[in-house]
Amino acid sequence: MTTAPVVPQRDGSCESEAASLTAEDRLLPRGPAALLSGRIQSGIPLAPLTTFRVGGKAEWYCEPRSHLELQQCLAWARAEGIPTTLLGAGSNLLISDAGLKGLVIGTRRLRGIQLLEGGRIWAAAGEPLVNLARAAARQGWSGLEWAIGIPGTLGGAVVMNAGAHGRAMADVLVEVQILDEEQEPCRLEPADLQFGYRRSRLQDSPWTVTGATLQLIPSRDPSQVQWETQRYLNQRLSSQPYHLPSCGSVFRNPESHPAGWLIEQVGLKGYRIGGAQISERHANFILNCHQASAKDIYRLIRLAQEKVYQQWSVLLEPEVRILGSFED
Ligand SMILES: Cc1cc2nc3c(=O)[nH]c(=O)nc-3n(C[C@H](O)[C@H](O)[C@H](O)COP(=O)(O)OP(=O)(O)OC[C@H]3O[C@@H](n4cnc5c(N)ncnc54)[C@H](O)[C@@H]3O)c2cc1C
Repeated sequence: MTTAPVVPQRDGSCESEAASLTAEDRLLPRGPAALLSGRIQSGIPLAPLTTFRVGGKAEWYCEPRSHLELQQCLAWARAEGIPTTLLGAGSNLLISDAGLKGLVIGTRRLRGIQLLEGGRIWAAAGEPLVNLARAAARQGWSGLEWAIGIPGTLGGAVVMNAGAHGRAMADVLVEVQILDEEQEPCRLEPADLQFGYRRSRLQDSPWTVTGATLQLIPSRDPSQVQWETQRYLNQRLSSQPYHLPSCGSVFRNPESHPAGWLIEQVGLKGYRIGGAQISERHANFILNCHQASAKDIYRLIRLAQEKVYQQWSVLLEPEVRILGSFED
């Protein structure tokens, strides 16, 4: 399937080629009509859609290809009275083995990048952050070099305020386009979003990010920016375990010490439960070494929290979003 081009509208929405859609397309995909059209499918396995490669099925799943389809999916869930979960690249998610109730909306087909004037770059929510970093570097625009090794979408990166090497999304964002709880397009400024260390107001809101505009520093030598970008990637590949499925850092770093150091101090480096292991290389990573279940990973998270609390009186807070039920 090809991806419909998505372009930003003046009202902040990123409508695709709505004019070419038929009247039928404009109908809400309610009930059997939606299922027949194949846009909303039932019982889709979520494990392949996450970087941990664990988790059960989505009760309902769709991958809208345009802003309009996204609105229709949200409207369908609302009309059916079922919850929705947004899924970007699934690189910061631990989804339970029991799967997720309601409608999971995968954003990976919501693509599009536009280089604007004066070093501004707009992209749709499902665009991989890596693509933005590379597009900016090719242009000689500086400011996203640090983002090269983060395997998420722009939408997920905005929600998480993803960052590395002392920089984060909040440093470069000038505007975030969302659909609010009424599915109305709105433009928000960073000041509206209460950004903090791996936090934003979006994490506990019913809003859907549809796109964002970033301000970079233009007019640098492209080869220099590309070189810097590659340097960040090399540095990351040599210090972090990228060879096995993970979610990156599991815990936010407490102010006192890095989470990985605390976990190492309590002797959990390399510790395994089932198919999951606390990385030998970087103790804030949990790796799916051998067909781990989500429960294996969840139990390692709880164990690390317990041990670190006992020894250091520090409660490690998961950065990874834990979704679904982990009760026995
Ligand atoms: C190997 C590896 C290295 C990593 N390194 C880093 C790093 O250096 N720095 C860092 O910050 N993170 C890192 N991460 C974690 C992860 O890549 C980031 O948090 C990323 O920003 C998540 O983006 P995503 O698209 O995968 O979001 P997902 O994991 O799919 O979702 C994350 C959250 O955002 C919500 N969401 C996603 N898209 C939308 C949307 N369009 N609208 C509303 N809500 C949405 C989801 O519901 C969920 O709550 C790493 C992960 C891996 C696997």
